[in-house]
Amino acid sequence: MRIAIGGFFHESNTFSPLVTGEEDFLIFRRGEIYAHQDAYLLAKGIISYFQEHAGYEIVPLVFARAVPNGEVDAELYGRLKNEFFSYLREAGPVDACVLALHGSMRVRGIGSAESDLLLALKSAYPSLPLFCGLDMHATVTRDMLRCTEALVGFKTAPHIDAWETGWEIARLADLSLSTGTKLRMGAARLDCLIAGEKSETDYEPMRSLIAELREVEARPGVCSASLLLGFPWADAEENGVTALVVTQYDQALADACARQLRDSFRARRNEFSFSVPAYPPEQALKLALQEDCKPVLVSDSGDNPTAGATADNTALISLLANELRQLTRGKNITVAGIYDPDAVRICAEHRGQKISLRVGGNFDTLYCQPVALQGVPLRVAENFGLYAATLVLFRTEEFDLILSSKHIGFTDLEPFHALGIDPLAQDVIVVKLGYLTPELQSIAAKSCLALTCGCTDEVLQRLPYTYPHDLI
Ligand SMILES: [Zn+2]
Repeated sequence: MRIAIGGFFHESNTFSPLVTGEEDFLIFRRGEIYAHQDAYLLAKGIISYFQEHAGYEIVPLVFARAVPNGEVDAELYGRLKNEFFSYLREAGPVDACVLALHGSMRVRGIGSAESDLLLALKSAYPSLPLFCGLDMHATVTRDMLRCTEALVGFKTAPHIDAWETGWEIARLADLSLSTGTKLRMGAARLDCLIAGEKSETDYEPMRSLIAELREVEARPGVCSASLLLGFPWADAEENGVTALVVTQYDQALADACARQLRDSFRARRNEFSFSVPAYPPEQALKLALQEDCKPVLVSDSGDNPTAGATADNTALISLLANELRQLTRGKNITVAGIYDPDAVRICAEHRGQKISLRVGGNFDTLYCQPVALQGVPLRVAENFGLYAATLVLFRTEEFDLILSSKHIGFTDLEPFHALGIDPLAQDVIVVKLGYLTPELQSIAAKSCLALTCGCTDEVLQRLPYTYPHDLI
């Protein structure tokens, strides 16, 4: 049997002024995906499954993914979608389409990319069965439910089961295609938005809710269960939490199980809270600078590029350079990092020289202003990471600042190593993240959230939503 595969993976923050364009995306056409599977683990899981099971031919179409950011440029999306359909047409008859999608990708002027793509597929190929693996922060729409045989989401946050989720959705496609089993999907929605920092799966109440989900999944007749949380930093009508259960043949069982999981989530609604201490920005930095253990990691949570913020908010570097200057004396402090292509270029031209540099506040003009710093660009790392960014280590009297030419998230220790920074020798590390990734968590003597204002404000009540939701 022939399985068409493809995917678009982006979490789009509608509060960000940025538009996500071609230079932000990694795009793999047709067979290119095979050499780049580690950059797209959800796709890798799908590919692994069909390669390990006899009788399947994989037909890869288009895969595109980018770091979360503002909404995706409509012209770019249109082009990628056209390529996807032209490769599918050229491929000839296929038996199913298995997609690696995010679920909360939004295109400027169009809205949900997943709804748009699946509706287009359904309209062009009405009898082609569609199966999708999704991020846990997927916003499940009515159109996504209507168009697909099965949806399966990640069960972990931080997400460490992307490959397994790809494998799982491929397994369901195999079950349906090879045995003719009719899959039935039940979904139950809750109209609330919750930040990822209150819904990590190692902490209560999510830990118990996921344990219950796995119990449901083990019941006879149930194929899979998912809890899709939606994406709080998008102002979208259909945003919210969805419990979703796939069964063999049994619609009533799917509906009942989905309602049970939804009701369990609702019953624990008031128990969700930040998994680490969270403070107003100045207090977070003060406490971190006064600790005697190290390193203390402070998340600049309102400006988290891994949830689509601009990564150039200057609130914390402004505090360190001004109000909290005295407390920085004798401390090793690294701020990772600020997205500022112009500052990176100026630094690269003045390596080793003392210069005045205007940093940040270029994209986030709503919540901050550029900051003028005096310092020395000490080191430059070219071609860093998947997105080939240029990184600069800029040393001021108060702190070391990492600048990036690309809008990327610093989710591991690689950027530090690339610039010759020993993270364990730092007293305080400011990261533009919400919850810490396992690798950063592993070096943190302590950690906290600084509740900065920005495109990923953790205090959801401060954001300008136009669609009303219950904000947790
Ligand atoms: Zn996610």
